[in-house]
Amino acid sequence: SDEEEEAEEYLFKVVIIGDSAVGKSNLLSRYARNEFNLHSKATIGVEFQTQTLDIEGKEVKAQIWDTAGQERFRAVTSAYYRGAFGALVVYDISRRSTFDSVPRWLHELDTHSDTTVARMLVGNKCDLANIREVSVEEGKSLAEAEGLFFIETSALDSTNVKTAFEIVIKEIYNNVS
Ligand code: GDP
Ligand code: MG
Repeated sequence: SDEEEEAEEYLFKVVIIGDSAVGKSNLLSRYARNEFNLHSKATIGVEFQTQTLDIEGKEVKAQIWDTAGQERFRAVTSAYYRGAFGALVVYDISRRSTFDSVPRWLHELDTHSDTTVARMLVGNKCDLANIREVSVEEGKSLAEAEGLFFIETSALDSTNVKTAFEIVIKEIYNNVS
C-alpha cells in the first residue's frame, strides 16, 4: 500500500578513504555543514555525519564516515569499512603520491567489503590547478580502468562536492532498490 511505501527507510553507510591531507574531512564538512577549515587537524570525535536526501520521493539517509586520521599510520580498521555500500576514494590533484596510492586504497576497500560498493574516484583541490600534478585525463583513465565514477572537487570553493556525494548515494539506491 501507499502507507507501507512511505514507511520504507533507507540508510546507507558511505566511507571516505585516501591518503592523509587530501581533504577527506573538509569534503565531509563542506557537504554536511557547508564548512571549510584551512588548518584542520586530524579529525577528533566525529565518526560520521548523516545527510538526508530525497530520491524518487523516498527518504534516503546517508551515514558518511570519516577516518580519525588513522590513515597516516596505514591502520584504517575493518570496522571502518564494515557495512559500507559506497566509497569516495580521494586524492589531491596537486600531490602525485596521493594519486599513486589510489590502487592500494581500492585494494583495501575490496578486501574489507562483502557487497557491491558504489565507488567514486575524487580528485580534490581542483582550485589548485596552477600547481596540478595529476591531469584530468589521468584521473579519468584510472577510473575507467577500475570501473569507478570520476569527479574533480574543491572542498575550498565547493566545486562538485554535493555532486560527488550524491552520485554515490544515488548509485547505491539504484543498486539496492
Ligand atoms: P584529510 O587528512 O584527508 O582529512 O584532509 P583535511 O580535510 O584535513 O585537509 C588537509 C588540508 O588540505 C587542510 O589544510 C585543508 O584546509 C586543505 N584542503 C582540503 N580540501 C582542500 C581543497 O579543496 N582545496 C585546497 N586548496 N585545500 C584543501
Ligand atoms: Mg581527516
